[in-house]
Amino acid sequence: MMSYPLTLTHFFERSRRLFARKTIATRVPGGPLFRYTYGEFAERTMRLAGALAALGVRRGDRVATFGWNSHRHLELYWAVPLSGAILHTLNIRLSAHDLTYIINHAGDSIIFADASLLPLLAAFRDALPTVRRIVVMPDGAGAVGSSGAAASVEDVAYEALVAGAEPVSGWPELRETDAAGMCYTSGTTGHPKGVVYTHRAMFLHCLAEAMADQFGISEDDRILHIVPMFHANSWCLPFTAVMVGADQVFAGPNPQPRDICQLIQAEKVTFTGAVPTVWIAVKELCEKEGFDISSLRTIAIGGSAAPKSLQQAYAKNFGVQMSHAWGMTEMTPLGTVTRLKSYMGDWPEEKKYDVFARVGYPSVGVDARIVDDSGKELAWDGVGMGELQVRGPWVVASYYDNAESADRFTADGWFRTGDVATIDAEGYVQITDRTKDLIKSGGEWVSSVDVENMIMAHPKVLEAAVIAVPHPKWVERPLACVVPKPGCVIEPAEIIDFLRSKLARWALPDEIEIIDAVPKTSVGKFDKKVLRERYKNWKPRDATANA
Ligand code: ADP
Repeated sequence: MMSYPLTLTHFFERSRRLFARKTIATRVPGGPLFRYTYGEFAERTMRLAGALAALGVRRGDRVATFGWNSHRHLELYWAVPLSGAILHTLNIRLSAHDLTYIINHAGDSIIFADASLLPLLAAFRDALPTVRRIVVMPDGAGAVGSSGAAASVEDVAYEALVAGAEPVSGWPELRETDAAGMCYTSGTTGHPKGVVYTHRAMFLHCLAEAMADQFGISEDDRILHIVPMFHANSWCLPFTAVMVGADQVFAGPNPQPRDICQLIQAEKVTFTGAVPTVWIAVKELCEKEGFDISSLRTIAIGGSAAPKSLQQAYAKNFGVQMSHAWGMTEMTPLGTVTRLKSYMGDWPEEKKYDVFARVGYPSVGVDARIVDDSGKELAWDGVGMGELQVRGPWVVASYYDNAESADRFTADGWFRTGDVATIDAEGYVQITDRTKDLIKSGGEWVSSVDVENMIMAHPKVLEAAVIAVPHPKWVERPLACVVPKPGCVIEPAEIIDFLRSKLARWALPDEIEIIDAVPKTSVGKFDKKVLRERYKNWKPRDATANA
């Protein structure tokens, strides 16, 4: 067979020929959606590539983006890697300190930034010696952040740049092992760590993601991009969408649950994805205001555990079966997706949802194993709990220029995910916790995720996060921080009673803290680090509880 390179260039060129009439739209605050065709997208992407060359971008250069989800961001997703440069998506929600580190560590040469986000960049612009230019993209939103000047003299406007550029007549021949993109993990300890994606990894990942047994993405889908394009490649969905020629809608600047509901309803979206916190909020709004989201054939949900009760509510109230997925920035990001096997179709409802609550079985292309503390591989029996390790063509082989993190890889070539899991005999993975979130009470492990999901099934509960707090006798005990639904009053005893028959004695929280909101990370997940800090000096009201 031919040695044909697996590069994104193939996807783009094929899509340009086959799907010129398909559509792409972006939400613009306060106005109608911006709309154009794949034909226009391709033409502008080739102009943008011409502009990159004129700006002196060379193969291997890092070109960063600092923006919301938009068609312009999509143009960059393609023009940068197809030019042989590396697309570096910056997480706009990180601190100035982390962003300065990340941009300097990656050595970014140009940053394409949304106009509304410029004040955030201006605050540390002087600390970025490798950045030659900032290109400003009009996003129609008001400025975010209060300090600092906007663009400086050497900055240029995106639209003028694209309009004035000569489109490229073709693309450089790339190797499939060339870098196409990079992303830094949010970094819960130490500095954020960079992951570099090759064309090959993305190519294979997109093929797998579109498979019927994964998200089943095809030409007749209308995809709403909510997962930020600065987070884990927006789960690679903008690449997969162009690969198959699906219609696409970008959620635009700072989308709120109402924007999401309106976009799904008006654009008859068939497929979308986001972290559970988004779907908790959307559910509340749909129930209150009756948005019609019945066009959805599925919702990809992942990034943190999707409570079974949430999945049941979407199926029952809106007729939408969610696709629960697990992945990581280090995995491009897809690792597993939950689908029932054909012979599970007539299982009782509860048993089926026990399967949906797991994160699915490993995707084709991903090898998975669980390993105990001594490094011994555990059986797939649904009981043995150990660190989940993975390997495959879209799994990180090392972090970018970061020798200290070598311990994340095993001597026999597996990536240590830092997640603790069981795998059952059917191959379904259950994420019990992140290693650092597990609670060890008197020698027994408590899965914070299990307890949270049970609490979130309570009809008065909006969100719940469970953390370890110090305890004089049991070393650690679970503390449940619970947010009531609007208008509901919750007595802690109600939650404890609700859990009593469902949990082992040692896993039952002794105390419930009612809070206004669970703090969120930069990508919308529960931020337990903040809660742990808040309750680090917790004194149990009854130190003998659960004796
Ligand atoms: P961050 O570190 O910013 O959260 P990632 O998105 O790469 O960045 O996070 C990956 C982690 O998210 C996984 O290691 C896992 O702990 C968690 N995660 C992802 N999907 C799920 C899921 N479906 N259920 C439970 N945890 C999940």
